[in-house]
Amino acid sequence: MLVYRDRTGVFEGRVAPGGRAEVVIDLKGMTLGELEAFASQLGEPLYRGRQLAHWVYPRGATSFDEMTDLSASLRARLAHEAQVTSLTRVSEVSTDAGDTIKYLLRLADGATIETVYMRYKDGRHSVCVSTQVGCGMGCTFCATGLAGLTRGLTAAEIIDQVILVQRLTGDRVSNVVFMGMGEPLANYEATLRAVRLLNAPYGLSIGMRHLTLSTVGLVPQIRRLAAERLQLTLAISLHAPTDALRDQLVPINRRWPVAQLLQAGADYVLQTGRRVSFEYVLLEGINDTPALAATLGDLLQSQSVGLTIREAGSEGEGIPVGISQTDILRGPNPFHVNLIPWNPVYGMQYRRPARARVEAFVSELRQRAVPVTVRLERGVEIAAACGQLQRTTEATMAAPLPAPPADEKALPQRARKRVGEGKAKS
Ligand code: SAH
Ligand code: SF4
Repeated sequence: MLVYRDRTGVFEGRVAPGGRAEVVIDLKGMTLGELEAFASQLGEPLYRGRQLAHWVYPRGATSFDEMTDLSASLRARLAHEAQVTSLTRVSEVSTDAGDTIKYLLRLADGATIETVYMRYKDGRHSVCVSTQVGCGMGCTFCATGLAGLTRGLTAAEIIDQVILVQRLTGDRVSNVVFMGMGEPLANYEATLRAVRLLNAPYGLSIGMRHLTLSTVGLVPQIRRLAAERLQLTLAISLHAPTDALRDQLVPINRRWPVAQLLQAGADYVLQTGRRVSFEYVLLEGINDTPALAATLGDLLQSQSVGLTIREAGSEGEGIPVGISQTDILRGPNPFHVNLIPWNPVYGMQYRRPARARVEAFVSELRQRAVPVTVRLERGVEIAAACGQLQRTTEATMAAPLPAPPADEKALPQRARKRVGEGKAKS
């Protein structure tokens, strides 16, 4: 029985058979320093810590038996003292000629999450990770929020989604987006630990600028993140430029309204020198009018006065504390809008706008010199796109979606389905 888990999941307290209390340590989720300290507690040399990191992260070992350069007696001891969290693939579906794959993964306690892998023509290999089982934020257009929050994932459970995709596909993942199930900043410690491990040279060595964290807009946590001064890409889910409308779509807006959220976004730019992206799900007739686009454009324009981004700086490094503001206040527009035509969620009444409406919205923003892109749709028909991930089961994972709107005819209509059992290829 699990009686205690620290916020990142590295340490767990359990009651072992016979009633004895024991602490179980998860090596996956530990930093190099922690692995070295753990090795020396076992009376082993420090370099064992690096060996363990190598097995757990780039090699993606799922058991101590695989760690063949450690002696059998040490492996037996490790197995007694610690564990290595590994997720299990329950099933997968793929589309876009196999370039988008949605995985249903099982956690140790039996809960399931979804992870999406996308290969792009420009060579990017991107994984969309979940950070919670479900979500407690209740955005009215999102599938994940429907059943509420079960629990946050541990750092190991977050990072293992990437490790498992690498093992299953044989590809090297180049980008990670925290846009799957859950609100990453509501699970702050575990998420930040995962960010650091994904980026660490002894971890998965993914450049900090290739990691994108999307938040619903938890202002205190955005400020806390800014103070970490990472080169992480931040995306803020705005979806409406006025409080009256955002209050309805994103309930958390009642706590941290638009003005406070935009100010936190601007401060993130100031502190990190990174451009901030605003996501805007387009819901036909609700938030997609040219008038709202104009309001949004004006708002972002006024908020960005005197605020631009600093493109220089190597990947993975934070900006040194004390950098002068004038270094930051140079360069192109600090904000960017990413429009996401709503992906249909079964049972919801919203509609995805037709292309002409999307173009009219784009044009209003362009007239105000706000950089804007429309998100390329991937995996819509296997419900693998943003906001379509929800608690599901093997039986329902590949269930057909309602017919797409008329302007979506270009999308491939059939998803290829592959269901595989449990074990990863190594
Ligand atoms: N909780 C975080 C990250 C996960 S959601 C957040 O809200 O930002 C990732 C993105 O998908 C968010 O911008 C979210 O608003 C968007 N999204 C949710 N449901 C969607 C849907 N049905 N269609 C398109 N985008 C959706
Ligand atoms: Fe949670 Fe993000 Fe969905 Fe809102 S959009 S319910 S914050 S996952």
